[in-house]
Amino acid sequence: MESPNGCSRKAASKDVSLQELRERLVEFATVRGWEQHHTPRNLLLALVGEVGELSEIFQWKGEVARGLPNWSPGDKEHLEEELSDVLLYLVQLADVCGIDLGQAALTKIVKNAQKYPVNPKPSPNYN
Ligand SMILES: [Mg+2]
Repeated sequence: MESPNGCSRKAASKDVSLQELRERLVEFATVRGWEQHHTPRNLLLALVGEVGELSEIFQWKGEVARGLPNWSPGDKEHLEEELSDVLLYLVQLADVCGIDLGQAALTKIVKNAQKYPVNPKPSPNYN
């Protein structure tokens, strides 16, 4: 389904691949003539800005419970938007740098597992 702003919207609650996001972002930028602005540096700075917007949501709230049970629907929608902004700029940054982000992330998980082997006695800080 195509919306008036040039974005197609698919049914919610389906798995979305990083490749699909990458392709949608390329299309989004191309039809608007924005590729020239999407340099690694510009995308990194945009990503950092979005991380700041995400941080603002949690600023001054103290620790919040998992699942955010006391948050309003509006607050959760705002969180969804800012998390998405961060993800989308990260996907674009990886793309223009020629990084396969999904594969890189899987590789990093393996490296982390080697760096932090399972401890038979859980740390008192991680219950
Ligand atoms: Mg934002």
